[in-house]
Amino acid sequence: MSLQIPASLLPADGRFGSGPSKVRPAQVDAVVAAGAPARPVLGTSHRQAPVKDLVRRVRSGLAELFALPDGYEVALGNGGSTAFWEVATASLVRERAQHATFGEFGAKFAAATRRAPFLAEPEVVDAAPGGVAYVTPSDAVDVYATPHNETSTGAMAPVRRVGSGDQLVLTDATSGAGALPVDVAETDVYYFGPQKAFASDGGLWLALCSPAAVARAQEVEASGGDRWVPEFLSLTTALDNSRKDQTLNTPAVATLVMLADQVEWLLENGGLEWSAGRCAASAAHLYGWAESREWATPFVAEVAERSTVVGTVDLDDSIDASAVVGHLRDHGVLDVFPYRKLGRNQIRVGMFPAVEPDDVAALTACVDHVVERIA
Ligand SMILES: *Cc1c(COP(=O)(O)O)cnc(C)c1O
Repeated sequence: MSLQIPASLLPADGRFGSGPSKVRPAQVDAVVAAGAPARPVLGTSHRQAPVKDLVRRVRSGLAELFALPDGYEVALGNGGSTAFWEVATASLVRERAQHATFGEFGAKFAAATRRAPFLAEPEVVDAAPGGVAYVTPSDAVDVYATPHNETSTGAMAPVRRVGSGDQLVLTDATSGAGALPVDVAETDVYYFGPQKAFASDGGLWLALCSPAAVARAQEVEASGGDRWVPEFLSLTTALDNSRKDQTLNTPAVATLVMLADQVEWLLENGGLEWSAGRCAASAAHLYGWAESREWATPFVAEVAERSTVVGTVDLDDSIDASAVVGHLRDHGVLDVFPYRKLGRNQIRVGMFPAVEPDDVAALTACVDHVVERIA
């Protein structure tokens, strides 16, 4: 290791990935406790009280964290947010969806509804990476789909209802949920995974569903025709199981343990307002730092669209960002590379609630140290 970052500059915890993201040690302790033979949860049936109790804690904790509006339900299933795109394609879109795409994740959901042989070609409202595209009212669609936070570019969009009466709004909150402010009543499905703000492992999807979304799934799944809704992609089946604090098939129990612990940790600290404030404080530091360095620029031009949970900062062409990322990695400061397909000379920083704002400050000091030596 030729370039040395002094230990005094290093963050206490060097995990800044955008998912999987930092897991708090207390969550790992919770897993160890759940595996102890005295009161075992790990290695026991997911149809019995100990695991069902865990799912109940997750569902009721999320309901409290998001101040769930009347009639909304917390559903969950296996397969992550990527699987939920297929669930929504099979169970929620009646004929045609409109997608806002401003990065990889929004585009992937658009590709999913485009591939479905029983749906019409989707409407797509596109914006170049670094900006935000907003869904716009259209009589030709029955679903609007948009990311809350586009993890691939570091741009965020407020959750706002669009359209009328019978149209549904689906929000991909995979990296925004638990970290960004939201009024869930402004959307019909607010879905996410456990491996970002909830600091757990991947593999599950969670969805806060409005009564209109539940009714739509019932209608669409009963409609027959050319549509085949595999049981695994059936939202009504997932809801039936979720209401019993179960999943259709076996979940990763350790993931649920870490997720429940994180939800309760957020609630104990002051809930979503606290969490969103903490992430915003980290982000204010990151963007302020980037603006004060001649060789760094926040990638997202519009200040209001700069994500307060996943920050992207372009570096001057004279500085090789991948070298910076490599030197940081050598010192245990991890995963600040940009999204692989974005192809920019950039660093990307996950500032999820588990990440200490002081550690974000330490990270930028480390970047300064490296850049002074390699520029
Ligand atoms: C990470 C991410 C996904 C994909 O989540 P998986 O659980 O890996 O399928 C989807 N959308 C957004 C916005 C993400 O950040």
